Amino acid sequence: MTTLIFGHQNPDTDALTSAMSWAEYQRQLGNPDVEAVALGEPNDETKFALDYFKVAAPRVIKTAANETDTVMLVDHNEFQQSVADIADVTIASVVDHHRVANFKTAAPLFYRAEPVGSTNSLIYKMFKEKGFTVPATLAGLMASGIISDTLLLKSPTTTPLEREVLPELAAIAGLDLEAYGLAMLKAGTNLAAKSDLDIVEGDAKSFEMAGKTVRIGQVNVVDLTEIEARQAAIEATMKAEAEQNGYDTFVLIATDILNSNSIGLAYGQDQDKLEAAFGATFDADRRLALPGVVSRKKQVVPPLQAAYEA
Ligand code: ZN
Ligand code: ZN
Repeated sequence: MTTLIFGHQNPDTDALTSAMSWAEYQRQLGNPDVEAVALGEPNDETKFALDYFKVAAPRVIKTAANETDTVMLVDHNEFQQSVADIADVTIASVVDHHRVANFKTAAPLFYRAEPVGSTNSLIYKMFKEKGFTVPATLAGLMASGIISDTLLLKSPTTTPLEREVLPELAAIAGLDLEAYGLAMLKAGTNLAAKSDLDIVEGDAKSFEMAGKTVRIGQVNVVDLTEIEARQAAIEATMKAEAEQNGYDTFVLIATDILNSNSIGLAYGQDQDKLEAAFGATFDADRRLALPGVVSRKKQVVPPLQAAYEA
């Protein structure tokens, strides 16, 4: 049976392309029977990368146990961010750069996690450890994952590993890093092409915090006023999603990728938790100013978790 490899739901560029790079690593390791799949369609930014390198998007799966008994996780570990029937299959390996939470297996597994800026930079490090080579097209896709997660090395999630390996991958792929990176990031910010649901849910993840389910979406923009102009519809969409899916709180972080600032919009009972987490208050327009905040993983989840558990 083919082992399926996939990143988290609502795949971002790192999730989607790290499934491909981990599949290639497995093949070079002598495991040919693997397939990179995805838990959702590529977003606009990822589509730009796939089109640029003329690579088809991975097949989308909704469940895994109907076609395999073994999976490999990349770019996530929390079960509520994984395939719906994750509890029914064996997890052979995890390669990740997120916190470990809500994760449990019956059998031993290969688990590699490092607090680095992207899963692709970690996988590239593992390629180098084995002396494996990265094909040019894959190098371009891996570079795209790193660019996405680190906002072209500008996010505080960037570590020395990304500064070292991103230029190496760009060289293998023959990429002009600055030009390609900005074009790719901007491709993900075309709000006119996104529905309210795309904006709210397109990159959203669920987190358990002190027994509550907190849904945190993030959208990259080049102009925050585009989000502000659609705020009422966005809030109504967050409310509907929360009611339909049982989220206690829904938070949308809109991030200005050119100026490295965000605003937060929220629906739910726990807005005091958000205010405590960031030491700020929602203004009269129900917006939370988040200067310097660009990373959900590093600058939003930890303080919010602390506020919930206080
Ligand atoms: Zn990701
Ligand atoms: Zn990632």
